[in-house]
Amino acid sequence: MKLDILAFGAHPDDVELGCSGTIAKEISLGKKVGIIDLTRGELGTRGSVEIRNSESALAASILGIHVRENLDMRDGFFINDEAHQLEIIKKIRKYRPEIVLCNAIEDRHIDHAKGSKLVSDACFLSGLRKIETELDGEVQVAWRPKVVYHYIQWINLEPDFVVDITDFIEVKKQSILAYSSQFYAKDSKEPITPIATKNFLDSVLFRSMDFGRIIGVEHAEGYTAERYLAVNSLSDLI
Ligand SMILES: [Zn+2]
Repeated sequence: MKLDILAFGAHPDDVELGCSGTIAKEISLGKKVGIIDLTRGELGTRGSVEIRNSESALAASILGIHVRENLDMRDGFFINDEAHQLEIIKKIRKYRPEIVLCNAIEDRHIDHAKGSKLVSDACFLSGLRKIETELDGEVQVAWRPKVVYHYIQWINLEPDFVVDITDFIEVKKQSILAYSSQFYAKDSKEPITPIATKNFLDSVLFRSMDFGRIIGVEHAEGYTAERYLAVNSLSDLI
């Protein structure tokens, strides 16, 4: 299946926190969207791999995602080398997305910046035909996504552009709350972590309200780009 947009996250829930409003919006516009998680978040303080698997499946169904896969890289310890790049190249060539979304270029969790560079490098390499890959016994054709954008997650990075997600903030909220082991719940007996506080959950909404405020809407998600953003007409920016 060819996808229009492929979103990568180092951990299940990164995509939901960073860009699920945009994804829900694009799906409502008829776009085909997939999510690929690099790890299962197995080092996370709360929950377990089994719990997180079912949570990410629930979040995918809330968002209406067409495909969700997990590359089973090592949480905390995956590196940006040829073997890991090839795993991602195979997925890019399999789904042939025009747009790739991935982690923030700089963030609190070390896997985010690592995953960001790994995916970005793989997107470039995927376009080189002399890098040969096979999937299910078939030789794959080179494919380079047209653009790679990085969703802002923990650190307040300055976005290069923001996407109005006002009509999709409820879906975003529900997709995040699907990870009930990870985030704030009043009666939870699990240990408190930086992302399991009420403040964190509130801050996700405050950020989208703040990005929205700047462009005159209720909620928006912010991204950084790797090169100039091109438009066909100034009207595209209204
Ligand atoms: Zn993460």
